[in-house]
Amino acid sequence: MGNQSVLCPVCQGVLPASGKESYTPLRGRLIVTNGYCEGGCAEVAEQQAQRQAQMEAQRQRARSQSPSPAPVPMPGPATGPVPVVGAGRAPLRVAR
Ligand SMILES: [Zn+2]
Repeated sequence: MGNQSVLCPVCQGVLPASGKESYTPLRGRLIVTNGYCEGGCAEVAEQQAQRQAQMEAQRQRARSQSPSPAPVPMPGPATGPVPVVGAGRAPLRVAR
């Protein structure tokens, strides 16, 4: 009893009703919140999967060509500013 049978797994839209049993209050609410599935999502998902597979293959090929890729330095607070001890204070008092 989940939304999976009602919702499109790709666009999360409500799939066309398959019968009178499909017209449930839950389905009506999902239509309001998610809208209808416009169809063709399976093809889009397939194209995306193929594109991802191609990109993955290209990435693996590039990785095999360059045996030791230079690691990208991470810009971050790893090497943050060194805390200055006694900043704003005079470390020595000048005695008159
Ligand atoms: Zn869809």
